[in-house]
Amino acid sequence: MARVAIVTGGTRGIGAAISISLKDAGYKVAASYGGNDEAAAAFKEQSGIAVFKWDVGDFAACKSGIARVEAELGPIEVLVNNAGITRDAMCHRMEAEAWRAVISTNLDSVFNMTRNVIEGMRGRGFGRIVSISSINGQKGQMGQSNYSAAKAGLIGFTKALAQENAFKGITVNAIAPGYIATEMVKAVPEEVLKTKILPHIPVGRLGEPEEIARCVTFLASDEAGFITGSTLTANGGQYMA
Ligand code: NDP
Repeated sequence: MARVAIVTGGTRGIGAAISISLKDAGYKVAASYGGNDEAAAAFKEQSGIAVFKWDVGDFAACKSGIARVEAELGPIEVLVNNAGITRDAMCHRMEAEAWRAVISTNLDSVFNMTRNVIEGMRGRGFGRIVSISSINGQKGQMGQSNYSAAKAGLIGFTKALAQENAFKGITVNAIAPGYIATEMVKAVPEEVLKTKILPHIPVGRLGEPEEIARCVTFLASDEAGFITGSTLTANGGQYMA
């Protein structure tokens, strides 16, 4: 029987590559998204992957969304916490709303999703939870105190959850990507990319979404059962944690 996987924010960018990689590896995949119906419909059309809309920052919405996914596809065995946003500002100018939005979507979401699948995983004696952190959660980034806090918090959560569930056949890991060529990063002017970003990446290029997707698919596999509580860094050598 194919295992069931859910990827939050699985309709665009890195998440879309993860959804497709898991599908190609034989999983039944659900991709969730927050509001961009057009992108989700196009992704569903192209990939044949089921899409589900809810706000991952909302606990009750996660609970009912997961119930819908499980009714359609079966019990969730792989959870990929990928949905994320940025609301950049220097802390001394940051609005409280920008702090709250980023913590809600990038960190509360990880609890909201995990809490609603973990009991089922424990009961069945198998689970894989992979959460997408960031290089900026490891090293901090000026203008991103909210984002860096959320992405670092996710790493602590991963280590605690890994300890709580290791003996239940559940592994819990994080991936910390560097700069990945998604729409967001591709929108950076060529000149800025060449002079300010690429010189700091020893491999000399941006990462591809598929390179992060391969990390997820490996950590989700049955063969990765001895890896738990770890953070896999995939950043072209930009920061060696
Ligand atoms: P994108 O902006 O391309 O896609 C984000 C996805 O998350 C979309 O599917 C979006 O849905 C969904 N999403 C956003 N907010 C919510 C919400 N409240 N509820 C449900 N879904 C939501 O992001 P990326 O692919 O660039 O990034 C993916 C992850 O990787 C993020 O966690 C990001 O922080 C992390 N990351 C990215 C890096 C990069 O270089 N791109 C580097 C390091 C980490 P919708 O389409 O409806 O908006």
